[in-house]
Amino acid sequence: MCYHLITFTEGGCNHRWATKRHYIDCNMTVCRLSQRHSSETHKCPAECIDMNLPDQSICLYQQPGLCYTCRGLETPRMKNYDSEDDEYDSENDE
Ligand SMILES: [Zn+2]
Ligand SMILES: [Zn+2]
Ligand SMILES: [Zn+2]
Repeated sequence: MCYHLITFTEGGCNHRWATKRHYIDCNMTVCRLSQRHSSETHKCPAECIDMNLPDQSICLYQQPGLCYTCRGLETPRMKNYDSEDDEYDSENDE
């Protein structure tokens, strides 16, 4: 099942903030959300899986400094990455 994986950074103040959002494709042909979805391999109305898992989050990075909020700054918006080619989605840039 396809889902979004959000990576977090944790600061020295123990606060976390989201940095990147990856789309994880399950690559199942019966998953309607997958890019591999193929209606030729199954009967869509009966066998298709149409389920979106909730976003998963993982803390990947740690940094000794304070988070943006503790420094009185605005936390930058997380970046969106495509899972296939890791291409930066400039639409979501500032
Ligand atoms: Zn899927
Ligand atoms: Zn289908
Ligand atoms: Zn903080």
